[in-house]
Amino acid sequence: MELNKEQKIIGLRVLNDNIIWLWKNNKSIAVIDPAISQPVIKYIKSNDLNLEAILQTHHHSDHIGGTEELIKEWPNVKVIASAKEKDRIPFQNLSVKDGDNLIILNQEVQVIEVIGHTKSHIAFYLKNKNPVLFIGDTLFSAGCGRVFEGTYRQMFNSLKRIKKLPKNTLIYCAHEYTKNNLEWALAQEPTNNNLKIKLREVEGKIASKELTIPCKLADEMRINLFLRAKNLEEFTFLRANKDLWV
Ligand SMILES: [Zn+2]
Repeated sequence: MELNKEQKIIGLRVLNDNIIWLWKNNKSIAVIDPAISQPVIKYIKSNDLNLEAILQTHHHSDHIGGTEELIKEWPNVKVIASAKEKDRIPFQNLSVKDGDNLIILNQEVQVIEVIGHTKSHIAFYLKNKNPVLFIGDTLFSAGCGRVFEGTYRQMFNSLKRIKKLPKNTLIYCAHEYTKNNLEWALAQEPTNNNLKIKLREVEGKIASKELTIPCKLADEMRINLFLRAKNLEEFTFLRANKDLWV
């Protein structure tokens, strides 16, 4: 399946650096990790759309903060979250696990568990000719999520799963951290030309108030030091080093 012409993914920049993703197909829409509700409600109502589903990658408040307000507006909405998070995402009404296949907006979506940032973080993978991955806080452009609840090994294995996806996968992460990540990466590898070129490109986008996301997996394989880490030791060193970088 290909994303047809009626489909669009729109990013709403909210709070300090969160991005709420709105995935639209004709008159239906799904929202991924609504940090807050107001801009989402405004977008849906002003475009006369129906909210079909809310996709939650994990329980952090800057990902679920707007969900209850959205449920009040659209009581029949599907709230899709990890079955392991019934306590921390109590308003979920469609509980999923790794490997589940769902139909959302008439598209096949696969649930991929990618733990490390939290103990039950999931991602949503749209199986198309032009695949899409809603990855939450597991991977960022030129970076990866902090290891809060899991182990470095779990996070390293989660990144390995992402690397196996088709290289043309477009990755939609939940934070605009790209510039900071690239500056950190350049401090590690000051002569890396791919990083320099990417930083210039990202600075241009920021100057013209564009999002730097989505990013393509093939590009991340070149510039993301965490994806390029050859083994667990190297990954652990990089992640611990990045934690000390502001
Ligand atoms: Zn988080």
